[in-house]
Amino acid sequence: MGPWRATQRFIELCRREAGPGGLDAVQSVRVDLFGSLSKTGRGHGTDIAVILALRGEDPVTCDTTLIEHTVRSIRERRMLMLGGCRLLAFDPARQIVFHDRSLPEHPNAMTLTAGLSDGREVQRTYYSIGGGFVTEEGTGGGSSSGLVVVHPYPVGSGEQWLGHCGGRDLAMIVRENERVWRSDDEIDQGLLQIWSVMRECMHRGCHSAGVLPGGLNVSRRAAAMADRLLSGATYEGIDAWFNAVRDSGASFRQVLKWVSCFALAVNEENASFGRVVTAPTNGAAGVIPAVMMYYDRFCQSTQRGLIDFMLVAGQVGSLFKQGATISAAMGGCQAEIGVSSAMAAAGLAHVLGASPEQSLMAAEIAMEHHLGMTCDPIGGLVQVPCIERNSMGAVKAITAANIAVDGDAKAARVSLDDVIRTMWATALDMNSKYKETAEGGLAVAIPVGVSEC
Ligand code: SF4
Repeated sequence: MGPWRATQRFIELCRREAGPGGLDAVQSVRVDLFGSLSKTGRGHGTDIAVILALRGEDPVTCDTTLIEHTVRSIRERRMLMLGGCRLLAFDPARQIVFHDRSLPEHPNAMTLTAGLSDGREVQRTYYSIGGGFVTEEGTGGGSSSGLVVVHPYPVGSGEQWLGHCGGRDLAMIVRENERVWRSDDEIDQGLLQIWSVMRECMHRGCHSAGVLPGGLNVSRRAAAMADRLLSGATYEGIDAWFNAVRDSGASFRQVLKWVSCFALAVNEENASFGRVVTAPTNGAAGVIPAVMMYYDRFCQSTQRGLIDFMLVAGQVGSLFKQGATISAAMGGCQAEIGVSSAMAAAGLAHVLGASPEQSLMAAEIAMEHHLGMTCDPIGGLVQVPCIERNSMGAVKAITAANIAVDGDAKAARVSLDDVIRTMWATALDMNSKYKETAEGGLAVAIPVGVSEC
């Protein structure tokens, strides 16, 4: 997602720099990938994201069923429609360069260069900092828009968040801050739209069989699992199917299987270039939907609860982003699955009736049991261990929420802020082999060649 967004930014920059001729003035484009973006770039589909972005596609709206065909055609013809409007010679095999080295500023870096018809060159280096967020060389990681926003209740730590509550719950504080940007109606509709995309993704993943792309020959499992859980019955439409899911969760074992199944479904979709909600990253995109669906189908859920779940979970993710990282290239898998699990745990605890202190305790418990988790995907593909790991993160989140709901938060020895600091210290200590480079762990134990989309 980061390389996609960075490339989109670069195209807009070229449009501005080129003057009246716009993108017609662009004669050539070259993309250099460094560090983790390069080392796991093929497996992560970084080149595919760059190609689609150069073509003017947006990850929110592009037709994911056409990705494979589009990319193959560009590779074969060595031409693409830059920004959707300028036919340009572009050979991905030569003009997207995977470098062995890293740039000193950040482990996830890319430099884009465009040659213009008047002989000038436009060049920018971007850093992908996790979750689709991108910073630009020379901006110090801050906003390049210059916009300064003052929130009524700044939340820079768990303690500060709790300090604002005073009788209000965690979601209310987040909503108050969000109102700086948009109305209540826009907040609710925006979050429900995200939920709707998650729901469609789980449904699609539970109805798609076959082998995942990339050469690892991993079979998709969610569809077969869902089919078994529903005893082979078929249902017309997404609502009828999810109603059947709710009715089929009669035992603990069935509910547990559904949670695993939802997480597998999302990450199988992610691994096959389907549309997922980045939460907080694409590799960890299955945890939050799976836990939300657990709440929606197997608890006393409400629409308000789903909205509040996302408000609380989102703020927890932001705390990790501020105090540590949500990038596996910076902190290993604790920064992806660990953070998503902590986000989901807090969201679930909140909607199950936990106090603010208990909800943050849930996030702390979930992260505590992901500390030190490394990132070592086989072949750099976001498949093994990533897909199953989302199921594990979801189950841990549910367990953490349930422990916290019945727990005494005042007696807890470790606070959310403590565990965020610890996660960051662990990230700094972690050997770079385990930070999304595919140079250690399972990636070395099970060597595999990656095939192109
Ligand atoms: S191992 Fe974890 S952090 Fe690494 S790619 Fe897979 S899900 Fe992401």
